[in-house]
Amino acid sequence: MNDLKVWIALVLNELEKLYHNEERVPELGHDEPLDGLILTVLSQNTNDKNRDAAFKRLKDRFPVWDALADKNIRELEDSIRPAGLAPTKSRRILDILEIIKQDFGSYSIKELANRDRSEIRKYLTSLPGVGAKTASCVMMFDLKIPAFPVDTHISRITRRIGLAAANMTAENISQLLESNVEPERYLGGHVNMIAHGRAICSSRSVKCDICPLRKLDLCKFKNN
Ligand code: SF4
Repeated sequence: MNDLKVWIALVLNELEKLYHNEERVPELGHDEPLDGLILTVLSQNTNDKNRDAAFKRLKDRFPVWDALADKNIRELEDSIRPAGLAPTKSRRILDILEIIKQDFGSYSIKELANRDRSEIRKYLTSLPGVGAKTASCVMMFDLKIPAFPVDTHISRITRRIGLAAANMTAENISQLLESNVEPERYLGGHVNMIAHGRAICSSRSVKCDICPLRKLDLCKFKNN
């Protein structure tokens, strides 16, 4: 292991002790990965609570995706309204469903899991409104393909710690983590970093005095 790999492993060990251990990492996937993809589209620019409320309303009204494809876009907009940006997200969802039906013959993307990792990423990011983070979330949570999604919390923490340079994009940081973390630790690392970003290393109030990464000299951030 090189120094960077050791450093990241030590950081992940500490976060694991603080938030979840390997056994306690929540099971966040869906039986049908297309559900995870639509959920992630709903999650853009909103919080988990509103995303989940919109997804529940959507599935209550349209339990199967075939039922949605024939409906008026207004009905779809109405059902996903809690997630915000309803007209844009509705258009995206309908476009994605149409492409999936054309490419796979049904409203399922389970077959994607049999392809190469790079091919899966390329396919998902070719869909309307699906960026690198959305693709990585669907890969990791729903297709069970190794990927390390990087959100705003993980970007902030990796920069503060000194693992990522200030000018690195979320996509660059994701590549850095995927190259230096064991794939079986991606899921735990992802959820624990987000938990740390919410509880201690937040954007508004950073609590270095109670952070184990400060005590163990694993973080280069200087705030005093
Ligand atoms: S020491 Fe401070 S900046 Fe570094 S990870 Fe902990 S809370 Fe964040």
